[in-house]
Amino acid sequence: MAKILVVGGSLGGLFVGNLLHCAGHEVHILEKVLGSLDGRGAGIVTHPSLMQALSLVGITLDDNIGVPVQGRVTLDAQGNTIAQMHLPQVLTSWSRLYHLLKEKFPASRYHGGKALHRLEQDATHVTAYCEDGTQFTGDLLIASDGLRSAVRAILCPKAVPEYAGYVAWRGVCDEHLLSQHTLNTLFEYFSFGLPEGEQILGYPVAGLNNNITPGNRRYNFVWYHQAPADNALRDLLTDADGNYFPQGIAPVKVSYKHIAHIRERARKTLAPQWAEVLEKTGMVFFQPIYDVYSEKIAFEKIALMGDASFVARPHVGMGVSKAAEDAMSICNYIEQLGASPEAILAYQDDRLRIGQRVIARAQYLGQYMSAQGQEELKKDLQGIAKRVMAETAVDITTLLQSQDPI
Ligand SMILES: Cc1cc2nc3c(=O)[nH]c(=O)nc-3n(C[C@H](O)[C@H](O)[C@H](O)COP(=O)(O)OP(=O)(O)OC[C@H]3O[C@@H](n4cnc5c(N)ncnc54)[C@H](O)[C@@H]3O)c2cc1C
Repeated sequence: MAKILVVGGSLGGLFVGNLLHCAGHEVHILEKVLGSLDGRGAGIVTHPSLMQALSLVGITLDDNIGVPVQGRVTLDAQGNTIAQMHLPQVLTSWSRLYHLLKEKFPASRYHGGKALHRLEQDATHVTAYCEDGTQFTGDLLIASDGLRSAVRAILCPKAVPEYAGYVAWRGVCDEHLLSQHTLNTLFEYFSFGLPEGEQILGYPVAGLNNNITPGNRRYNFVWYHQAPADNALRDLLTDADGNYFPQGIAPVKVSYKHIAHIRERARKTLAPQWAEVLEKTGMVFFQPIYDVYSEKIAFEKIALMGDASFVARPHVGMGVSKAAEDAMSICNYIEQLGASPEAILAYQDDRLRIGQRVIARAQYLGQYMSAQGQEELKKDLQGIAKRVMAETAVDITTLLQSQDPI
């Protein structure tokens, strides 16, 4: 059995770490952050591959995994339902998945406070050097260190995040705070709104302590909003004291002025139900939307996976599922070919094209907010609403494996 290093101890790292551990390997996860990562992320749309990976890790898939919804609705600016579709789905949360996966992984092999900053590999081993002066040596290294992957920056510095020109305002609102009208018309659904040049969607997720009982859940929203890179984005990434955070601003640092502005815009441009959700959400924050495109994800004894390999705009709703699929693919090839460069290369052959297609699909879905999408929207709001609902955050496994245009 091999000794395998995993850089990054978030969902992707925990998926691959657990799967390799289950297969009998000695796995060490090196995570930059010391302590729990909980509190990050919000809602996650589940897909069959995510459920498959959880089950392979030995996690029981019972009703507690998330909140089920039966269908989707789109509301117009007045709050009327203009389109509906039946699509049962289970919505879970980042925190729920993190706890389930973290509890399964041996605590003694999860090393917090280990920020990788240098790598070396030779014919037999790969060594990770951390900023605190420690080093770890293994037979393989799997990089699951996210959007701003240090491993990607070392191995292929040209593959950098490209800003998509818009941000996602996000938050979760406690169910018990909402009016009965909003609970009836919005909360029980995967809901959409299509204001000009923008898009909002939301769905119910577990509440505090992963409580999924009615009255104790939360509504997770994602509101895509244009923010040109040169001025608007810079302004958003600047806190109320004038400090600029070009790499991303922590939710607690987002200026109260921007939050006030976005709530005001919600009242003016969104359905009243969405405006209520925005008003009653304690912490409203945003994330700039990026694409990361890779030409290569195998480097001898090192593989990139999850957001370290590709970042697709969240319209596809499959960042976590893709990380789970990457993890299953890596484990599969290590089982077949041993902990070897051949296994890493076979993983690349399996996942590179799929990652590239996911990016293309997410860019296509992002076009609903562009001028072209908006022209169509004005002519046929209901038709576009139906298409957006049918294409956003759905299982696209068959499409990805086909030769059809994405
Ligand atoms: C608005 C929005 C909505 C989204 N909605 C969905 C959704 O509905 N469904 C879905 O599946 N996905 C969604 N995603 C995407 C999802 O959040 C990510 O794709 C997923 O979390 C990828 O996980 P990861 O483990 O690859 O990376 P990350 O979760 O980013 O983890 C990387 C880890 O590496 C650590 N790290 C970084 N640098 C180092 C270093 N040098 N040394 C050691 N450790 C390091 C970090 O601390 C972190 O813990 C959404 C994303 C956004 C922005």
